[in-house]
Amino acid sequence: MKASDLELTELIDFKDGFLNLHGRRLVIHDTHAVAQFRKEIIEKSGEEIARKILTRFGYFEGQADAAAMHRLFKWDSPDEWIKAGARLQSLQGMAKANFLNIDFDATAKKFYGELKWFESVEAEEHLIELGPSRTPVCWILCGYISGYVSFCVGKDVYFVEEKCKGQGDKICLVIGRDIDSWGNKTAVHAEFFKGEDILGKVRELTEELEKKDQKLLAQQKRIESITPKLAAEHVEIRSESFRRVFESAAKVAQFDTYVLISGESGTGKEVLSRFIHRSSNRASGPFVPINCGALPETLLEGELFGYKAGAFTGAVNGKKGLFEEANDGIIFLDEIGDISPATQVKLLRVIQEQEILRLGENTPRKINARVIAATNRNIQDEVAKGAFREDLYYRLAVVEIEMPPLRKRMEDIVPLVRYFIKRLSKKLKISKLHIDSTCIEYLTSYNWPGNIRELENTIERAAVFSRDGIITVSSLPQKIINYHSHHITGGNWEQLSLAEIEQQHILAVLEKNNGNKTKAAEALGISPVTLWRKLAGFKNEK
Ligand SMILES: [Zn+2]
Repeated sequence: MKASDLELTELIDFKDGFLNLHGRRLVIHDTHAVAQFRKEIIEKSGEEIARKILTRFGYFEGQADAAAMHRLFKWDSPDEWIKAGARLQSLQGMAKANFLNIDFDATAKKFYGELKWFESVEAEEHLIELGPSRTPVCWILCGYISGYVSFCVGKDVYFVEEKCKGQGDKICLVIGRDIDSWGNKTAVHAEFFKGEDILGKVRELTEELEKKDQKLLAQQKRIESITPKLAAEHVEIRSESFRRVFESAAKVAQFDTYVLISGESGTGKEVLSRFIHRSSNRASGPFVPINCGALPETLLEGELFGYKAGAFTGAVNGKKGLFEEANDGIIFLDEIGDISPATQVKLLRVIQEQEILRLGENTPRKINARVIAATNRNIQDEVAKGAFREDLYYRLAVVEIEMPPLRKRMEDIVPLVRYFIKRLSKKLKISKLHIDSTCIEYLTSYNWPGNIRELENTIERAAVFSRDGIITVSSLPQKIINYHSHHITGGNWEQLSLAEIEQQHILAVLEKNNGNKTKAAEALGISPVTLWRKLAGFKNEK
């Protein structure tokens, strides 16, 4: 581990109301408020006492951070552990901190280091409330780095500012030495750093945290054993509807039954099937997916059941079917509602007999594949219409899981977006990719007819159009921006003109018909030409 590997988002767990750095609770403070606080301490207690209090405050925090860095990471060298102190100052927003050089002899416990701070927050605070100072003012920062490095070296190390932005220098330059190397010069500074047994406190706290860590780990293991592999899925589930789906899937995974997953396109039916596969006792066997809707009848049958050489024109060599490929594993039949009546009969036979007949062969072969089927149709309607065999339906739908559309689980959008961003950041090699929080309102008010797949595509497109890795509202597709504006003004019809209401209604109907103008015109009761003319008119107004 190198100091430069540290990332704020990975160090801190951002939970609502509880920012947590591996067990230590953190709070974000505002510079102006702290500046005011600082001013009052100085005015009420004098500069010397104020400096002592603030230096010790920093010292304590530095020691605690050094202990945490030691506890959490394995550093490439002691120098990297020390450099992490400056890195943490940067990450926490104290200053842009950089070690210019470090000369550390661990056996002799000798330390010398030069550190640079750009834009020190403390200098800024001081300047805001008290104006330029005659002496250096970055007391908390000095205390922090002294506490941090003292912990690393195992001996008192004091950092003192040679230059400071608070006294008119361009940057702050700090020199650190161990207590012996300072010689007689220490006396001047040492009293500012010495607290009452700070080190003892830090040790006590560290031990306490280590115990907490072990407790947490045990708890985590217990939770993982209760909900197998749920923890490995990476995406947080907030909606009740999807949590139920996930729990059913985890439950059914453990039994060798057939499952039918229904739901609109893009709701993640295959993702759920793969989860069932991973959580089942067939996890070490294959997962073989096929989209039954994409192939004509003969090709589909050849794919599913296999064929003998010469079984039909073009079948030069014989081929093993996917049911055989899926032996000891799972075959995933997507778009099952699209298969022809003839294929339905053959599929039913395969399932009933647990054996397969390759096309052109007479000898059946035994198979052992668990079937998960999926459909975006209402299969019971298809059964009622006579388009799908009832007996096959009952065979496949021993357990039926219905995937809720994304618009019915809007709570999950934020965690999903974060998950996609994390993945895209790697895929597109945009290291600091993130989304501006104003986008969330747009994303959560859209109706997502294409569900999670549409959301994923939207975020990928937005990432491509992002600037400096920040996804803003302007990187979102126009239809989402339009939808949002309709949605927002939707409640205030009386404030809109007739023309505006007409425009919004037309766009909403068009949206509902996925941009299909013929269908939209039909729904609106106007001719496609009229619709086209009106749409052209809207564009001209813009
Ligand atoms: Zn300074």
